[in-house]
Amino acid sequence: MRGVVLDGKRISQQILDELRPRIQAIRAKGRPPGLAVVLVGDDPASKIYVRSKIKTCHDLGIRSIELTPTADITTEALIEQVRPLSTDPAVDGILVQMPLPKHIDAEEVTSYVDYTRDVDGFGAYSLGRLVSNKPAPRACTPAGIMELLRRSGIPIAGKRAVVVGRSDIVGKPMALMLLHENATVTICHSRTANLAEECRRADILVAAIGKAAMIGSEHIKPGAVVIDVGMNRVSDRAEVERLFGDDPARLAAFEKNGSVLVGDVEPRAMRELSSAYTPVPGGVGPLTIAMLMANTVSLAEQHTV
Ligand code: NDP
Repeated sequence: MRGVVLDGKRISQQILDELRPRIQAIRAKGRPPGLAVVLVGDDPASKIYVRSKIKTCHDLGIRSIELTPTADITTEALIEQVRPLSTDPAVDGILVQMPLPKHIDAEEVTSYVDYTRDVDGFGAYSLGRLVSNKPAPRACTPAGIMELLRRSGIPIAGKRAVVVGRSDIVGKPMALMLLHENATVTICHSRTANLAEECRRADILVAAIGKAAMIGSEHIKPGAVVIDVGMNRVSDRAEVERLFGDDPARLAAFEKNGSVLVGDVEPRAMRELSSAYTPVPGGVGPLTIAMLMANTVSLAEQHTV
């Protein structure tokens, strides 16, 4: 079997295009939707993510308000910057880019993001609404995966779904969203006994671990749908050759950049065993940004009625 590629780029473009008329309608009421982005310090990966989020805002006609305090800011001083955003009439969503420097109390800072501007869906109100399946902003990565499954016509009800990873931002909300669509859900983590056996039961396998190519052929039931959330940089030549020996384009990219982006699933196993899969890059990543924009627009609609 050779799995069909679930093209996250194409689907995210569809989602963004559908937002355009909604953004026009909001702008017609007097102001553009506004997304405040708080980037502390200069972590290179965070800078890349934030740049791409801001660029998407600008392409769509969403106003971005950028705060870029230096890494030595204190928790208290950061709160002083974040707090006023919750009452700023130009701001519909507030994104505090994670991870924050270690000395900052991230939970304390994000508790100052009002639930009406919780564009990431990480706050207590949004999480409570997720548990009871009521409307509220949903965490962007799992929400994007649900859109991808829906728009790709992949049935969920009655299927066995296994989510590997139980973080608050990906694994747990992912499991709840699949449950609300009537999948029978198992959550696995670092203490799961017999991970491969659990995974092999999955009709839909979601890997959100953060370990390059950790999921291999022994974890994938032939014909399963595999969603690879992981984004890991691999710079070890032998490992790159093992993973991409049959992919000249990726090997060339490695020669050029000195590293390649690898998901949590071994690419060849995923291609050869699954019925459908998300590639890395070009799978889940673009959807996360599209859903961030969708959440911003939904909040702006609520703020401009
Ligand atoms: P976390 O580090 O917060 O969580 C990782 C989870 O994986 C934990 O629950 C951990 O278990 C579990 N885990 C770790 N090792 C193993 C193991 N050997 N066997 C089974 N489970 C294991 O990561 P995130 O959820 O934030 O992110 C996961 C991945 O997704 C990362 O690669 C990240 O870069 C990527 N990501 C991609 C996004 C995108 O847009 N494409 C967005 C967000 C994340 P335990 O709880 O027991 O420690």
